Amino acid sequence: MATHRLDPSNLERREDWEGNNAAFACPVCDKVFIVSGLIHHGRRPCPDCGQSVGYCEGGKIAGGQARIEWPDGEGAGPEANLRLMAALKLFEVGRISSGKASEIAGLSKAEFLEVCGRYAVSAFNIPPADLEAELRSDIDAIGTGTS
Ligand SMILES: [Zn+2]
Repeated sequence: MATHRLDPSNLERREDWEGNNAAFACPVCDKVFIVSGLIHHGRRPCPDCGQSVGYCEGGKIAGGQARIEWPDGEGAGPEANLRLMAALKLFEVGRISSGKASEIAGLSKAEFLEVCGRYAVSAFNIPPADLEAELRSDIDAIGTGTS
C-alpha cells in the first residue's frame, strides 16, 4: 500500500483537516472526500472508486493522524497528479506531442489519450504535419510483428 499523510502545517490544495474530520483527494480517481472520526469512526473508503481508504485518528491539534492509503501502482499521489496536469496543459496548447506528454505523465500513450478524454482535452490539437508523423509511427508500431 502507498500512503500519504496529511501535514497539518502544510496541507495541500485539495486537503483539509479540522478537529477529527479530514478531507483527502483520492490518488486513484481524484475524488475529494471527507473522513470523519465521528460519522465514519475514523475510516472511510473512497466513495467513488472504493480503492483508497482515508483515516482520521484523533484531532489535528491533539496530535492525531490523518492519512490516505491506496494500492501500489494505482494512481500516483499528488506529485504525479501535478505532472499529469502539466502534461495535459502543455499538450492542449500544442507545446508538446502526445508522446512527450505521456512520457511526462508517466503513462502509456493510450492511457494518456484516455485521460485527455476524461479532462475534456482534445486529442486533435496537433499540427497537421505532426499528426501525420504521429499517425505514421503509430501505424508502424501496429504493423510491427504482424507481417
Ligand atoms: Zn477514489
